[in-house]
Amino acid sequence: MPWITLATSNGKDASCDRTPGKWGAMRATTITTFRKCWLPALLLWLLAWLPGIAMAQDALQLQPGASDVALSPHIRYHHDSESVDRPEDAWRRAAAGEFHPLPDGRDAFGFQRGAFWFHLPIVNRNPDEPRWLLVQSYPLSDRIDVYARYPDGRIVHHAGGDSLPFASRSVRYRHPNFRLDLPTDTPVELLVRVQSESSMQVPLRLYTPKAFTELSRDAQLVIGIYYGILLALFFYNLVLWISLRDASYFWYLMHISAFGLVLFTLNGFGFEYLWPNSPWLADKAVPLSICLALIGMQQFARTFLELPKRWPKGNVVSLSIIAFFIVLGIASVWLPYRISTPLASRAVLLGVLWIAIASLVVLRGGYKPAQLFLLAWAMFLLGTTVFTLVAFGVVPKTLFTEYGVQIGSALEMLLLSIALGHRYGALRNENQRIISEANQQLERKVAQRTQEVRHALVQLEEAHDRLRDSSRRDGLTGLYNRTYFHEGFEKLLDDARHARRPLSLLMIDLDHFKSINDEHGHLVGDDCLRRAAKRIGDTLRPHDALLARFGGEEFVVALPNTNLSSAVAIAESVRQSLVSEPCESQGLRIRISASIGVHTVSPDAMDDIDDAFDTADKALYAAKANGRDCVRTSITAA
Ligand code: GH3
Ligand code: MG
Ligand code: MG
Repeated sequence: MPWITLATSNGKDASCDRTPGKWGAMRATTITTFRKCWLPALLLWLLAWLPGIAMAQDALQLQPGASDVALSPHIRYHHDSESVDRPEDAWRRAAAGEFHPLPDGRDAFGFQRGAFWFHLPIVNRNPDEPRWLLVQSYPLSDRIDVYARYPDGRIVHHAGGDSLPFASRSVRYRHPNFRLDLPTDTPVELLVRVQSESSMQVPLRLYTPKAFTELSRDAQLVIGIYYGILLALFFYNLVLWISLRDASYFWYLMHISAFGLVLFTLNGFGFEYLWPNSPWLADKAVPLSICLALIGMQQFARTFLELPKRWPKGNVVSLSIIAFFIVLGIASVWLPYRISTPLASRAVLLGVLWIAIASLVVLRGGYKPAQLFLLAWAMFLLGTTVFTLVAFGVVPKTLFTEYGVQIGSALEMLLLSIALGHRYGALRNENQRIISEANQQLERKVAQRTQEVRHALVQLEEAHDRLRDSSRRDGLTGLYNRTYFHEGFEKLLDDARHARRPLSLLMIDLDHFKSINDEHGHLVGDDCLRRAAKRIGDTLRPHDALLARFGGEEFVVALPNTNLSSAVAIAESVRQSLVSEPCESQGLRIRISASIGVHTVSPDAMDDIDDAFDTADKALYAAKANGRDCVRTSITAA
């Protein structure tokens, strides 16, 4: 390279001249040398002029109209792996041709030890733009030193990188930047030294102030939209988490916060806004936030996909990945950046692939919400792939491809948020189904129990009726007993008085019943009592009578709305029904007769129940006294 040859010749000349290898300054140097050793100087002068012209041609020419110039195609580099060179050494090496073009024109070297030196002569041919801004579009380099050497030998030094406070930057911008004075048509030699624990990426560009303003505005807009989406999703899901208390939302929040922090740091905003004075945090924030994002991501996938329930083996793998990132996260506080960060970055893709596998497995198991979930992560993978393809030059760099990771992750997070909503809807529907099923079951049970209770109540009522009825009845004859008759007669007496109607009372006593017992025994006597009761009942049926066994072989009859003559007629028919047919028992035919006393309570009489019985009893006594088997009234008795 002609210019390098010139520099080399000047470098050799350094023993005679202490101002090495600078194009403009060299001619002056050569004159001094001429005085000391004119012959070699003459030769050198000739040698110096020819390549000198060539150098001017070889230097990067900033043409009028140029406003944004990538330096990578022009710049040369030297790797000072032991980090021992001083700027003088680097100038000398550059002059000696020890600097090389960037391999394949690429300005990224990966994680490297030591320092990298970059060298580029520049001539500004643009008379309108003497001031330029040198920007390194990678924010994580630790230390950047920029030296600009002018033809008069003056060297201007700038320092930058995140090991220096943010405030030291020429322009308050997320990428390290350095203001350069490039006077028109004046060759300036640029030497840049970069040393960093992070990846060695040196995408240097020169901007005019106007171009830089426009560029930063565009980038700021895209990034602003991205973080705007992230913030909106964050607060939206925060509210959902607070109100729903679904763990998935919490892990989702952790994932987007930590992932947002990763990109915030990688974009240089972390250093600009969060820790402008902490180079230590600037170093640790990347691996720490990557680990946090991955823990959140795996936890989110576990809860969202319900791995413990749906795929227990996959759940164990997820838990192991989480454990790995917890350990790596803690270790990254002590581990050097160049070990922890590549490890964590590579694990991002593995983590996402694992989530895709888990989603597929769960999806095949019939879990519908996994569809959107899978699509979301596919977006993320797509964005990252596009970004990688841009880095390898397969895909052209456009606003969309350059921000592939941001666009992919924004879509991913948006879809995840929608997937969360869908999952919540599915859960709610499932809950409603379970609740309505449980309600139906409950209703069926309640109806069944009600039916059983109703049935039991009916049975109870029947039993109660039977009990009450049996308490009213006489066990031998089945007729009402005396107690019941007493109550019934009292009521009839009241009714008769109110209605002003007569009420008649018959007292029936079987004649010589004792002798039946005596002659045929009590069983025959009982039989006769039953048959006599039945016959009396049959005879009274047409008369709306209340019949009861009064005790022993005595019966009593109340005849509502029946006057004395009717009552006597009824009593007579009763008496006749008893005597008309003998009672058959144990092959015997036993004649039964009865004496009947009749009393009618008139509506005007003030008789109470005892008076009525007493009067009827007297009539009965009269019937007995008159030879039995006859009917007597209280009047006839009197
Ligand atoms: P009278 O014509 O004067 O009424 O004579 P009587 O024998 O019917 O009257 P008494 O008062 O002397 O006797 C009533 C008899 O009725 C006495 C008793 O053995 C009988 N007797 C009362 N209750 C029952 C019963 O439940 N079963 C049987 N087999 N006999 C009864
Ligand atoms: Mg008697
Ligand atoms: Mg008797």
